[in-house]
Amino acid sequence: MIELKNVQKKYKNNDNYSVENFNLKIEDGEFIVFVGPSGCGKSTTLRMIAGLEDITGGDLLFGEERVNELHPKDRDIAMVFQDYALYPHMTVRENMGFGLKVRKEPKEEIAQKVDEAAKIIGLEEYLDKKPKNLSGGQRQRVALGRAIVRNPRLFLMDEPLSNLDAKLRVSTRVEITSLQKRLGVTTIYVTHDQVEAMTMADRMVVMESGIIQQVGTPVEIYDNPNNLFVAKFIGQPQINLIDTVYKDGKFIIGTDEIELPNGIMKRVNEDLVENKEYVIGIRPEHMKTDRLSLNSELDSIFKTHMQVKHIENMGNEIIQYMDLNGQQIIAKLERRANLVDKGEDCEIGIDLTKTFIFNKETGENIIK
Ligand code: ADP
Repeated sequence: MIELKNVQKKYKNNDNYSVENFNLKIEDGEFIVFVGPSGCGKSTTLRMIAGLEDITGGDLLFGEERVNELHPKDRDIAMVFQDYALYPHMTVRENMGFGLKVRKEPKEEIAQKVDEAAKIIGLEEYLDKKPKNLSGGQRQRVALGRAIVRNPRLFLMDEPLSNLDAKLRVSTRVEITSLQKRLGVTTIYVTHDQVEAMTMADRMVVMESGIIQQVGTPVEIYDNPNNLFVAKFIGQPQINLIDTVYKDGKFIIGTDEIELPNGIMKRVNEDLVENKEYVIGIRPEHMKTDRLSLNSELDSIFKTHMQVKHIENMGNEIIQYMDLNGQQIIAKLERRANLVDKGEDCEIGIDLTKTFIFNKETGENIIK
């Protein structure tokens, strides 16, 4: 188990803390993803775990042992970076075995481990080639192979897919996650890409400005974001956020008055204040135009009209951009859903059981 307790980082030449009060327990074998926008402190945290950066405050534990001062080479960690950092003059075999050679492991053992790793990641045919004769995806696999031969207790990966083209990123994503499950090695993976985080993580840690915003499984975070930042960061197309005022038990948006279902109102964990501003969050897939939703008598479907500004046909689905009192609203619709054209008025059924309410000042999601 790996634990970070109140871990802090302040670089000497930087007035601000780059990481603050970072608390996290990582179970054996977990695939953890640190995700957030550039500069939020993901790499710094990863580098502190690797021992490549000093820890300004707090404790880093491997099992029961405090390892803040442990030398990186004694931490039993293997890292994979965005740039593969392969030695150009060495073959794939030599690159993969180099770390073991430096540790003076016997030649036969190195050869055996490299062969095994090459088999696992499908590089057997390439062992005698030089990196320049490999594609980007194959080079990244060599970098992975080099990490695997070490048989470490922890893999640390920092944006390992960002140099690959879109298609290769998807296939390598699948490869890395299934490989990690097979090997069972605890892994911490850094990315700014929420899709990578959602698809790869057992649990993800969403960060902003050096502070953890939420920790949870992808589904937990998607279905119940802690705050406006997390709601906006996770999900594509982005969640719709609509300003509203609370009055007489209803949320007012322009001429619309929305009454939330009892089930949702019971989960509001803050006293709603009359005439106070809130933000309603509705994911694009919860804006419906199909007959079933629009003909529904359920109170939990709120019906309103919006003008369609733009339509994107993605083949499998429709992304419909609309206007609601000057605010852009996006709906993600099934293709067969009752469509109207650009410029026309569209009836929309909003699934209120999936709605979030945020405190406008603190950004907190008040539905728990
Ligand atoms: P991320 O990996 O999420 O993009 P980083 O961990 O690289 O973010 O950076 C977090 C913050 O720390 C940023 O504000 C960045 O400018 C700052 N930072 C990173 N490295 C250094 C450094 N060597 N010296 C000073 N500030 C740094």
